[in-house]
Amino acid sequence: MKKIAIIGGGIIGMTLANYLDREQFEITVFDSGKNQATGASAGIISPWLSKRRNKKWYALARDGASFFEQLVTDFNLHESIYEKCGSLFLRSSKALQELEQLALERRKTAPEIGEIRRLRPEETEKKLPLLKAAESLYISGGARLDGKAYLEHLRARAEAKGIHIIKTEARVRRRRHDWEVASTQESLFVDELVLTPGPALKSLLEQLGYSAAVSPQKGQLLSFDTSFETGEWPVAFLDGEADLIPFQEGRLLLGATHENEAAWDLSPTQEAFEQLTKGVQPFLKEDFFTKTAYNYRVGTRAYTPDFAPFFGPIEGEAGLIVASGLGSSGLTTGPYIAYLLAQYLNSTQRQWEMGIYTKDLKNYIKAKNASK
Ligand SMILES: Cc1cc2nc3c(=O)[nH]c(=O)nc-3n(C[C@H](O)[C@H](O)[C@H](O)COP(=O)(O)OP(=O)(O)OC[C@H]3O[C@@H](n4cnc5c(N)ncnc54)[C@H](O)[C@@H]3O)c2cc1C
Repeated sequence: MKKIAIIGGGIIGMTLANYLDREQFEITVFDSGKNQATGASAGIISPWLSKRRNKKWYALARDGASFFEQLVTDFNLHESIYEKCGSLFLRSSKALQELEQLALERRKTAPEIGEIRRLRPEETEKKLPLLKAAESLYISGGARLDGKAYLEHLRARAEAKGIHIIKTEARVRRRRHDWEVASTQESLFVDELVLTPGPALKSLLEQLGYSAAVSPQKGQLLSFDTSFETGEWPVAFLDGEADLIPFQEGRLLLGATHENEAAWDLSPTQEAFEQLTKGVQPFLKEDFFTKTAYNYRVGTRAYTPDFAPFFGPIEGEAGLIVASGLGSSGLTTGPYIAYLLAQYLNSTQRQWEMGIYTKDLKNYIKAKNASK
């Protein structure tokens, strides 16, 4: 049996561990949990009306969102973890008209968008009663994923299957015929090494003589526990700085900031509170969020110069696979990326052609020593 180590137990790493073939692999996941994005995330799965022009990203995000149907079945995800709750877009009339056209166009290749409906002001208010009466666009396919609950669920499944999870930071080293993974708890030699550590990929690849064009970005959001009956409320994309993400049992998230300069910093800031509460204010019937107790969630996203993810085997390296740079949409794309990597690793042919989803890895990763 081959030995495989996955470094990074966020959404990619844990999903991959659960999709790998246990008959072929002895699997160990190293996860320090430090600066994790998945557990801090907002949870919106609704990529279709994004105005981003990157076609590869859109194809990946669209197929990633559609993959959730299989993910729910494969991992038996309860609706407290993943739920199709619909998305609401609040914009000017002209912008809503454009969005509606875009939705109709994109639904031709993404039937998951579901129902597309312009809502009158009173209908918007009925869908999400905290909002002022205003025109909106509703699509029924939008969903929310509780990143933290998803990881807990997948960790339990992985452990039940005998996958070894080590909650500590790991370092890596190339040996002649295999890879060494060392941590304070355990060191092992593996045939295959998968690096899914978010922005920490840069330092891990440096240990192997590569430079990676990936950087950390701080993200903050606010979490409110309320007594509202939020179970049926959709996710609301507000025009501006903040989005509103209702979960079950009264939990409301307001997020999120994108702070490049703050990089790895995890301290909650008053500026984030002000940015997010001011951003939501014009859309609310009354000033609810500045008068309600809240907690911060802070995580670190990985982003690349073109804000697109990269993933796959590194050419010329036997058994070295990476995935990072998922940015603001990694809950949407992460499970599908993990599934594609698992398909590759589980197969005997080992063919990798992902040109429809990502640029070649060479655009993001370079050997420091030209002889590699
Ligand atoms: C505030 C916020 C809101 C977001 N909202 C959304 C959203 O609404 N929708 C959406 O689609 N996406 C959203 N995202 C983005 C999404 O959360 C990320 O893109 C995604 O979770 C990245 O997953 P990952 O597995 O690549 O990395 P991570 O989740 O960061 O996991 C990497 C793991 O590797 C571990 N690690 C790193 N180095 C080592 C090492 N040397 N040894 C051991 N362990 C290591 C880290 O501690 C971490 O646990 C949001 C992110 C943030 C921060």
